[in-house]
Amino acid sequence: MYLEKFRLDGRRAVVTGGGRGIGLEISKAVGEAGASVVIAELDRDTGCAAEDRLKSLGIDAMARQIDVTQPDAVAELARELNEECAVDILVNNAGIAIVTDFLDTPDDVWTRTMQVNSDAAFWCGREFGRHMAKRGAGSIVNIGSMCGYVVTKPHNPIPYMASKGAMHMTTKAMACALAKTGVRVNAVAPGYVETEMTRPLRDSNPDWLACWEEMTPMGRLAHTHEIASAVLFLASDAASYCTGTILTVDGGYTSW
Ligand code: NDP
Repeated sequence: MYLEKFRLDGRRAVVTGGGRGIGLEISKAVGEAGASVVIAELDRDTGCAAEDRLKSLGIDAMARQIDVTQPDAVAELARELNEECAVDILVNNAGIAIVTDFLDTPDDVWTRTMQVNSDAAFWCGREFGRHMAKRGAGSIVNIGSMCGYVVTKPHNPIPYMASKGAMHMTTKAMACALAKTGVRVNAVAPGYVETEMTRPLRDSNPDWLACWEEMTPMGRLAHTHEIASAVLFLASDAASYCTGTILTVDGGYTSW
């Protein structure tokens, strides 16, 4: 009975930025649990490559090109997909991180970071949530960050941190707004994971990895599958009484 609650057979999941990094692993996790997966990617080739990869694993997958910062395009995608077949799970994973020193941060770095990391979760949550609420069921999982709670060293990208903090509060407020409709809204707040997003930080500073290992109680970075497992839990009926939860997956970093 308990293992069955983690199964997603017959459900349909949309994963934004699902073509690489943490998003690709989330697409695999929900697909392995039985969901059909829509990879909503900015770059068409990345989406198509991910679709082929998931299909080779026996997962029902389809890539769709989208820029999640465009509210009209998001509304259109939600309408089209729901017309074909209801979307049960939305994972707002698309994100960017641009590291700059505070006083040298260009205006557009702030604007773009807020658009992709925070505004898009609102647009997607509102548009997909609308269809879910009508049907009386659904699960939305936002990918926040431990940077939404704490200032990190040695890099302290303020727009990124502000965007993730906003996303955490959006998660809680959306959860309360939708709680009576049968739609749950939660977030996962990962610690550092080695992906294309964090590779430049590691490459730019030979001490970066050792510094992180030292500051993390578990002494290592996260693997993408460790983030995807947390998403799978929140997306599934195993988390049927969780809404407004921010599930931190950071090897203990924020517990010091
Ligand atoms: P990656 O840079 O590897 O992947 C980011 C994904 O987001 C890509 O698929 C990218 O698409 C997509 N994306 C970016 N902008 C848009 C857009 N406008 N529209 C649609 N898709 C877009 O990052 P990670 O896998 O590392 O990060 C995934 C999430 O996890 C992010 O939200 C990030 O903030 C969060 N996170 C990551 C941590 C880490 O240490 N890596 C730690 C904590 C949180 P494309 O390939 O087409 O560019």
